[in-house]
Amino acid sequence: MNDMKTRQAFKFRLGPTSEQDSVLSRHAGGVRFVWNKALDLQTKRRDAGMPLLSYGDLAKLLTLWRSSEEYGFLSLGPVHPQQQALKTLDRALWEALDRRNPKRFPRFKRKGEGDSLRYPDPLQIGLDLSTRDKDGRIVLPRIFLPKVGWVKVRLSRQIAGEIKNATVTCKAGRWAVSIQTETDVPEPEMRTSREIGLDLGVVSFATRSDGTRLHPDPAILSAMKRAEDRLRREQRRLSRKYRKGPKSRNFAQQKLRVARAHEKLSDMRRDFLQKTSTAMSETQAVVYIEDLKIRNMTRSARGTKDAPGKNVRQKSGLNRSILSQGWGTFLSLLESKLARRGGRLVRVDPRNTSRTCAACGHVSPENRPDQATFRCVVCDHADHADVNAAKNILRAGHARCACSEAQTSESAA
Ligand SMILES: [Zn+2]
Repeated sequence: MNDMKTRQAFKFRLGPTSEQDSVLSRHAGGVRFVWNKALDLQTKRRDAGMPLLSYGDLAKLLTLWRSSEEYGFLSLGPVHPQQQALKTLDRALWEALDRRNPKRFPRFKRKGEGDSLRYPDPLQIGLDLSTRDKDGRIVLPRIFLPKVGWVKVRLSRQIAGEIKNATVTCKAGRWAVSIQTETDVPEPEMRTSREIGLDLGVVSFATRSDGTRLHPDPAILSAMKRAEDRLRREQRRLSRKYRKGPKSRNFAQQKLRVARAHEKLSDMRRDFLQKTSTAMSETQAVVYIEDLKIRNMTRSARGTKDAPGKNVRQKSGLNRSILSQGWGTFLSLLESKLARRGGRLVRVDPRNTSRTCAACGHVSPENRPDQATFRCVVCDHADHADVNAAKNILRAGHARCACSEAQTSESAA
């Protein structure tokens, strides 16, 4: 009965030796060359009103190039990533020529622009997870890449599932590998009572209806704050170094520093989002969440208009820059992780969740004396504003699900 499969991607930093680093750069250069050459060919055919070559034709050309004297250097690189570039180009061209919904025409690639090597054959890549060598010395895990050899890989989490393919990319001068795996999806669990409402807040990253706050540890948060300060500083330096005309070597170096600072901050953010979403998907069956699209239309930052608190600006500033950019990512991670376990994420209408009393249902902006506090003007029920909101989200979710289930059974009858 169970033949559902799901794909997952695991991304890790690579630690190539300087020799491997230049080999990888050459391979990426070969892939770029193939892309640009094929794109040039196809563009000329299009401009001359000739039909485009198919992927099959291009693949045959690639074989010729690789054995020719002129382009023989291509055969120093692995063939699969070069073929993959042709496949990607072929798809991009078809999408660009689609009359009903045309996408942007593919562009020529320059060095350092989205360098990537895709290895579609799992048999050509190998993963060695041993932590000791044959003499008992501690070693790092490594990955085997065709025509490169064994490259050290920094495994930041466990890989689950069967390896299907791998993509090696270079960003800000650093190599990373993304390994895609396939796992069987378990039979969906029965709906349990493990349901929760989640309020995406301004002061905390998020608050659960049982009162738990989701927030990075203070130590991690301050490390993130430092990483953010660093990024701002490097960005200011970059803008000081900017001048019109040809860019200096100094400018290029500073640009790299900005890119690294950016990477560092987003790595920390991603780590927090990964861990938080994993933990939640392991303990909950259904998570109710405000529909962010509707929420963004109805209010910019909750409470600031109705009931501005004293420290709101400062605290929300911190949170907004470091974490709220992560809400979208968090929700999509959570959604796929829940689905993998047979659970689900349900979006509810966010209207009034912040000003409704979770105890008696009274709706009034006066229920919010300040940003952090909820106090019902009718029944005197008091709670943290975010916890009260999360409880309302849970209730709205229950109402929505009960309603749609009633509809389904009606239409089935
Ligand atoms: Zn009340």
